[in-house]
Amino acid sequence: MGISRILIANRGEIALRIHRAAHEMGIETVAVHSTADADAMHVRLADHAVCIGPPAAKDSYLNVAAIISAAEITQADAIHPGYGFLSENAQFADIVEAHGITWIGPKPEHIRTMGDKVQAKITAGALGLPLVPGSPGAVADFDEMRAIAKEIGYPVLAKAAAGGGGRGMKVVPDEESLESLVKQAMSEAKAAFGDDTMYLEKYLGNPRHIEFQVFGDGNGNAIHLGERDCSLQRRHQKVFEEAPSPVITPEERDRMGGIVAKAMADMGYRGAGTIEFLWENGEFYFIEMNTRLQVEHPVTEAITGLDLVREQIRIADGKPLSVAQEDIEFKGHAIECRINAEDPFTFAPSPGKITTYHAAGGMHVRVDSGLYAGYSIPPYYDSMIAKLIVYGRTREGCLMRLRRALEEMVVGGVKTNIPLHCELIKQPDVISGDYTIKWLEEWLAKREVEG
Ligand code: ADP
Repeated sequence: MGISRILIANRGEIALRIHRAAHEMGIETVAVHSTADADAMHVRLADHAVCIGPPAAKDSYLNVAAIISAAEITQADAIHPGYGFLSENAQFADIVEAHGITWIGPKPEHIRTMGDKVQAKITAGALGLPLVPGSPGAVADFDEMRAIAKEIGYPVLAKAAAGGGGRGMKVVPDEESLESLVKQAMSEAKAAFGDDTMYLEKYLGNPRHIEFQVFGDGNGNAIHLGERDCSLQRRHQKVFEEAPSPVITPEERDRMGGIVAKAMADMGYRGAGTIEFLWENGEFYFIEMNTRLQVEHPVTEAITGLDLVREQIRIADGKPLSVAQEDIEFKGHAIECRINAEDPFTFAPSPGKITTYHAAGGMHVRVDSGLYAGYSIPPYYDSMIAKLIVYGRTREGCLMRLRRALEEMVVGGVKTNIPLHCELIKQPDVISGDYTIKWLEEWLAKREVEG
C-alpha cells in the first residue's frame, strides 16, 4: 500500500501546491491551520482539516506535538512539510518517521548535516563541489582567524555556522576591523541561533546567485534539473527568479549539473534538494544546500515539464525517479515574480482584507496563490501572497508575456509589490540579464534618491 493521505504541515500557496499534486495522484489531503487561517484556501480545498493552535507560528505551524496528533487523528500516512516552518528540522523528520508516518523529504541525517553550514561545506568539499576559499572548518580564535584571512586575502566574510536569512554575517574589509566585526557577528548569531561558531570565507565582490535543482532516490541514483538564477535579491530575500540563467551555457549546465548530481548520488541523497552557488567570472562557489522544495521551484517545472511535488511524493513512497538524466530536456525560459503584500516603496508589510482579486491568465501563465476576494491576509506570517510564473519559448518572449501578465493582476484592498515588478522588468539590465546579487539594492537606493 502506498501513500493514500498526506498531511500538509504548512499554509498559503505551498500548501495548495502540495494539495494539487496529491489530488492529481488520487491522494487525499489533510490541512492543518492556526485559528488565524480558518478561512484560508488551503483549508477549504483539503479533504480534512485540523486546527492546531493559535496564530503565532510557534504555537501552530511549528507545534510538533499538535501536528503529529493531527496526523494520528486523521490517519494520515505521510507528512509533507513544504518550505520554511519545520521543513529543515531534522528532529521533526525523526519524530515523523518514529511514528511510522512517511516523511516526504530527505533523510534526517542529511537535513542535519546540511543545516550546519560548516558541516555542509566540509561535506560539499568532500563530494567534489567547488567551495568559496576560506577556513577549512570552524575557526577557534582570533589568531587563527587573522592567519586565515591574511592567506585568503581581504575582504573576508565572517559567517555563523548556524546562520540563516543573512544573519550572523559580516564583511570584514581589513585586519584592523576583524576582531570588532567578528564579535558583532558572534553576538548576533548567539542571540538568533544560540550558537556563535564562526567560519571565514573570501568575500566575493559582485557574484550572481545560481542554484541547481537536484533529486535523489535515496539509493544512489540522482539527477539534476538545471539551474535557476536568483540574483535579484533584497536583504538576501529573492524577489525574481528565472530559469535558465542568462549566463550559463548548455555545456556549463551539463558539466556543473553532472557534478552536483554525482555528489548527490554518492551521498545517497533522497528527495528534492537545491545546491546554492555564487558565480563570478565563470566560476561556481558552493555556499549552501537546502534540503527541501524551494519557493522558486515552478520555474524549473516550466522548463522541464516535470511536477516536482509529484516527484517528491513518488520518491517518499519508495518509487524510483520517474525520469533519467538523458530524458530531461530544458526548453524555453521561465520567470517567477514573488508577489508580496507590502508597500512597493518602503517594503512595510500590508496585511488586511482583499477587496478585489483577479489573477493573470492566458497561455503559459501560472499563478500559485491562496488569495480570493474577501480573504483577510493575517499579519502573523510571511508577506508573500502569490507567485506569478510565466513561460516563453525565448527569454525575450517570456519578458513580454510577464509584462502583460503583471498588468492583468489585480489585488485590491492591500498594497503589493506588483508596481515594483512592473518597473523592474523595464530596466535595461534586467532585460539584458546583466545583473548580480548587488544590482537590486543598488537600483532601489538610486530610485529612492531620484524620488
Ligand atoms: P543565509 O543562509 O544566511 O541566507 P548564505 O550562505 O546562503 O546565508 O548567504 C546569503 C547571501 O549572502 C548570498 O545569497 C549572497 O548574497 C551573500 N554571500 C554569502 N556568501 C558570500 C561570499 N562568500 N561572498 C559574497 N557574498 C556572499
